[in-house]
Amino acid sequence: MIESLARLNQRPYHRRKLVLIISAMRHYAAALRAAGYDVDYRVAPDFLTGLREHVATFGTRHLICMAAAEYATRQFQQRLADEPGIAITILPNTLFLVERYPPNRPPALMEPFYRAMRRHTGLLIEPDGNPTGGIWNFDHENRRRYDGRPVPPPLRFAPDEITRQVIADLAVACPRAIGSADDFDLPVTREQALQALADFIARRLPDFGPFEDAMSSEHDLLFHSQLSPLLNIGLLDPLETAQAAVDAYRHGHAPLASVEGFVRQIIGWREYIYYRYWELMPDLLQANAWRAERPLPDWFWTGRTRMRCLSKVISRVLDSGYCHHIERLMVLCNFAVLAGIRPQAVNDWFLECYIDAYEWVVTPNVIGMGLNADGGRTATKPYIASAAYIDKMSDYCKGCVYDRKARVGSQACPFNTLYWHFLITHEERLRANPRLGPAVLGLRRLSTDERRAIVAQANEILGRIEEL
Ligand SMILES: Cc1cc2nc3c(=O)[nH]c(=O)nc-3n(C[C@H](O)[C@H](O)[C@H](O)COP(=O)(O)OP(=O)(O)OC[C@H]3O[C@@H](n4cnc5c(N)ncnc54)[C@H](O)[C@@H]3O)c2cc1C
Ligand code: SF4
Repeated sequence: MIESLARLNQRPYHRRKLVLIISAMRHYAAALRAAGYDVDYRVAPDFLTGLREHVATFGTRHLICMAAAEYATRQFQQRLADEPGIAITILPNTLFLVERYPPNRPPALMEPFYRAMRRHTGLLIEPDGNPTGGIWNFDHENRRRYDGRPVPPPLRFAPDEITRQVIADLAVACPRAIGSADDFDLPVTREQALQALADFIARRLPDFGPFEDAMSSEHDLLFHSQLSPLLNIGLLDPLETAQAAVDAYRHGHAPLASVEGFVRQIIGWREYIYYRYWELMPDLLQANAWRAERPLPDWFWTGRTRMRCLSKVISRVLDSGYCHHIERLMVLCNFAVLAGIRPQAVNDWFLECYIDAYEWVVTPNVIGMGLNADGGRTATKPYIASAAYIDKMSDYCKGCVYDRKARVGSQACPFNTLYWHFLITHEERLRANPRLGPAVLGLRRLSTDERRAIVAQANEILGRIEEL
């Protein structure tokens, strides 16, 4: 096992993420040694140097490794075949079910992909082959606003000696890392990951479905699982995670709508995103279908904006490395699309700031789903909305200096002005999209003067975006 200093410093990553990965690695090495395996564990300037040192010490002739999840690392693995005297065998990546059940033909949409995955795994499938409950999708039941009910907090794991050492080591090794590891409390062993999974299933899964899309200024997690960092480094297996939710349903501990919603995220969205990544790379990295060129505002690095939703969500991310899906999609990416921020700048920000961020999952979610910059190949429509949506699903607008109802005027919410400006600017193209046609129809109610006022105000606020 190699701790590559070059990889740890490839970007200024969130410190909590770096501690999670390195602590999990060191705990894993210790567990393997305790189980009787020989482990060669190295800290090296980069992977290749570490590997060459290992080969020189042990005379290794044959390397067996799991295919990396990310494009550049997989290319690196393939290049290892050029190393003199070493044979390399690359095995499928076991962190994804789609490597076990590849689709027969490329699915264009998530829904058929997900249904095929349900059939492959047998999750929520009845003996007659039909979906449990008679339907595949309970999304219509899963759109409630948070109603103030108690939210069970996630389990916290106090750092042990290994983790404390990692925090100290990385303080020196990664001076550019962002955020703080002072309150580090994430699971770093398989046992702790299983405890975190069991805790989610018992205490938050029952309310997961109805409040899946809800946002709250008070609760960052609400009823979400925060299991993505653990799934993405292999402390949890996707099938066991989804199976645990299905077991809770079978034992009457969680309603079907919540369980199906969760299973859909794990064996549907997560797998589809990974599949899409490999379909669309490497072009995906440079995609910019809406020709958005504005730089990312500086306040993405401080949270200092008067827009309360963005300020709260960004501060939360900089602090903990986490916010849930709808805030990533409908607050952060929504603003970035409407304001015409360059997709690659947004992608970089997501890669650096989150504890669960890896290129295979960030790039299709940000450039594909969130910004629709891949020309609709990941999601069929841009996820754009005005303040009406944010107000419906959250308490952010209450207490915001901006007026959530106005689209022009000095107090108008920038989401409103920019939403209508986006529709006006891209009217023709949006009209051709059957999923967005109805939104564009709203433009018919705008007079020429109203359109002019919106465009003028949008240009004005985009000109002083740093001050919003
Ligand atoms: C713009 C944007 C950026 C994102 N960046 C990341 C990222 O860096 N890392 C990451 O793991 N996920 C990312 N996602 C997907 C999703 O937002 C997170 O997986 C989720 O918020 C993690 O929190 P959770 O574990 O509490 O999720 P839950 O709401 O509890 O969902 C359960 C699990 O489903 C999986 N999942 C759900 N949706 C997706 C999805 N679209 N893509 C992949 N997995 C999904 C995750 O493994 C997650 O743990 C991103 C989504 C968007 C829209
Ligand atoms: S009014 Fe606008 S800027 Fe303020 S919280 Fe609501 S959506 Fe965000």
